[in-house]
Amino acid sequence: MSNKMKAIMKREPKMGAELVVVDIPEPSDSEVLVKVIATSICGTDAHIYKWDRWSQSRIKTPMIFGHEFAGEVVKIGRNVRGVKVGDFISAESHIPCGYCKVCRNGQMHICTNLKILGVDTQGCFAEYVVIPEICAWKNNKDMPPHIAAVQEPLGNAVYATLSSEITGRSVAIFGDGPAGLFSTGVARAAGASMIFLLGTYEFNLNIGKKMGASRTINVLQEVEYINKIIEETEGDGVDVVLEMSGAEKAINEGFKVLRKGGTFVAFGIPSDEVKLNFAEALIFKGANVIGINGREMFRTWVKMKELLNSKKLDPEPVITHQIPFEKFNEGFELMLDTKDHKAAKIVMRL
Ligand SMILES: [Zn+2]
Ligand SMILES: [Zn+2]
Repeated sequence: MSNKMKAIMKREPKMGAELVVVDIPEPSDSEVLVKVIATSICGTDAHIYKWDRWSQSRIKTPMIFGHEFAGEVVKIGRNVRGVKVGDFISAESHIPCGYCKVCRNGQMHICTNLKILGVDTQGCFAEYVVIPEICAWKNNKDMPPHIAAVQEPLGNAVYATLSSEITGRSVAIFGDGPAGLFSTGVARAAGASMIFLLGTYEFNLNIGKKMGASRTINVLQEVEYINKIIEETEGDGVDVVLEMSGAEKAINEGFKVLRKGGTFVAFGIPSDEVKLNFAEALIFKGANVIGINGREMFRTWVKMKELLNSKKLDPEPVITHQIPFEKFNEGFELMLDTKDHKAAKIVMRL
């Protein structure tokens, strides 16, 4: 193998990205080198591509981004024990230190010294990527690469949706992006009684129907939808709200449709501070609030494997595009198109 590889790099602090040729990275004693087979574009990557305020404050150029992928292990560090050359793996993108109080408390996914692949380290939009052994998740050999690649975002949905009792419960999912669509599939698999999916794109809401939504609501078109949800839940509101959009309006409306004593699961990341009536939304409502970041390492992955193996959960409808790696610009344009939005999860193949 040559010692060079193609990679999608954010070379300068400005909009866009470039296809470059760089050295293949070398794994340290505790790391593995992976040949990437499929990699998917995350909302985070679209932020980095666009070079918005968040990326400007967080990303140091030049860097290879991307953190969702599947590939084959081609080289291992000398201390690596759990992974072999030839293994087909996906990766947990949260890189924990292993030693802080939070890690020691069994919550590595929110480690105090957390690093994120492709944000704080060189990412997977490349022919090869290096990850710590601890972040490697072994897949069944027969898992299709495009499915294996999206397990990182699918895992967010598994963690968020199963973080409270969902079987026999009514749920409102805010946000029709991949996170909301995956969550719809998980809620269906887990036996939610009623699944309202709220979003703004007809294209995505239709995928939501395939994923098992009982009712989809286009919040730009349907009026009085908050009252309708409350009516359709016998006047109580839903048992669980999954907030997957990060929009201030959705957060506020989420608390409005939540029944007293219900659970509000917060996953979507607001771009600014959020104004909320704390007393009404949380205290008088007796709301339970759960913040979700990443995936539990590796409880979420274990559950996800079972859901996928049993075919109770099928993420296929959410993967709307598979494009060649070199055509990455097309992928980002599809994702950033808010006028004629016709994409959910986009996978790039190498
Ligand atoms: Zn992601
Ligand atoms: Zn730690």
